[in-house]
Amino acid sequence: MTELRTLKVALLGCGNVGAQVARILIEDADALAARTGARLQLSGIAVRNVNAPRDVELPQDLFTTDAETLVKDADLVIELMGGIEPARTLILSALRNGACVVTGNKALLAQDGPTLYEEADKAHVQLSYEAAVAGAIPILRPIRDSLSGDRITRVLGIVNGTTNYILDQMDSTGAQFADALAEAQRLGYAEADPTADVEGHDAAAKAAILASLSFHTRFALENVHCEGITSVSAADIAAAKDAGFVIKLLAIAEKLSDADGGEGVSVRVHPTLLPREHPLAAVRGAFNAVFIEAENAGELMFYGQGAGGTPTASAVLGDLVSAARRLVLGGPGRTETTTGHVPALPIDAAVTSYYIGLDVADQPGVLARIAQLFAEHGVSIEIMRQTIHRDAESNVESAELRIVTHRASEAALAATVEAVKGLDVINSVTSVLRVEGV
Ligand code: NAP
Repeated sequence: MTELRTLKVALLGCGNVGAQVARILIEDADALAARTGARLQLSGIAVRNVNAPRDVELPQDLFTTDAETLVKDADLVIELMGGIEPARTLILSALRNGACVVTGNKALLAQDGPTLYEEADKAHVQLSYEAAVAGAIPILRPIRDSLSGDRITRVLGIVNGTTNYILDQMDSTGAQFADALAEAQRLGYAEADPTADVEGHDAAAKAAILASLSFHTRFALENVHCEGITSVSAADIAAAKDAGFVIKLLAIAEKLSDADGGEGVSVRVHPTLLPREHPLAAVRGAFNAVFIEAENAGELMFYGQGAGGTPTASAVLGDLVSAARRLVLGGPGRTETTTGHVPALPIDAAVTSYYIGLDVADQPGVLARIAQLFAEHGVSIEIMRQTIHRDAESNVESAELRIVTHRASEAALAATVEAVKGLDVINSVTSVLRVEGV
């Protein structure tokens, strides 16, 4: 039997994910060698503190604080430190040295992805980041490779487990946002500072990556319209439930045509109503899922654990084996195609259905006036439902009106809502939420 070549693997970071990657590299060394055609030798692990306790027992002599030297001597570098620096400098140095790099660092990719991709292209090496979107779920490679002969038209993703857990709790228990967040923090699903999750920033970074691969055009974080879940109330959830919907924080990337036949991509993150029978509505707790619509493949859904050390390590190892195989077989690194050149559309150009909750005076002719106003703005109503309430103290009756529109542009909807607010029969606009999947 011929002796297998050895490839040196430098691991940067040994936290939740890195420790599991190190464990699997050591425990499954023979199986990984058989699949790769080379032995993957863990040459060292760079950390801040070599004496810190670890989740996994690992040989102490592997640890170092000298990440730069470790990177210089590696064929493959796995970056699992997180943050911008020194991760960015170390990845660039690894790529320039001709090493393939695997990372799960969505924050870095969102901030400075193009610099890294260009450096990988120049050096003809692979930069892989399956773990950066939806943890364990194989989603980037299916988009980039399996669907490369198709045309993706739309991607809808639940890509942040923390917010999905919070919204799911609110939906199943009727809890307010603050209480559901506190519960998520108690159970370790949300961090002490939950801003990146609840404001939608983490999902926006992933939306930019999904849109870039799906539409063969590099979209940056500033191209993503982002709204978090902090203003979603228990009343919104209850009203949505009553109307047969569930509220999810979705990362959306979809191709839209304008009236002149021009095309663009709308990339956005916002709370969204989904019909309860939509496949994404069944994604409970901290799970993630990505729903793809493609011209030829039709509808596809990818579901699984979006975080966690061991699940995320699975995605990292998959990238590592793929990159190592490429080194064994030779040939140029696999690069992303960026030949799409489709512009990113502003949020005003997004086209979707809307749910609008109105508190209105209970008077004859109100429904007709509201319906006419919608029609004047080119927004057509699909469902209009009225519930009458009587205030126990004042004995005054008011009506709660719930409207679901057909697809309309964000600009037309905003103008309609402004006009509705001006009607004397409107007490308040209680909610305006976007709807998908109808
Ligand atoms: P983590 O638990 O915080 O671990 C970070 C590791 O990096 C630690 O071992 C730390 O060393 C080391 N480190 C940090 N700064 C360093 C520096 N300046 N020099 C040397 N070592 C340094 O992080 P994680 O949860 O494993 O996440 C790693 C990456 O994967 C992040 O980019 C994250 O966004 C991404 N990711 C994580 C998950 C998940 O479920 N956790 C899911 C998907 C993607 P010490 O141990 O000595 O402090």
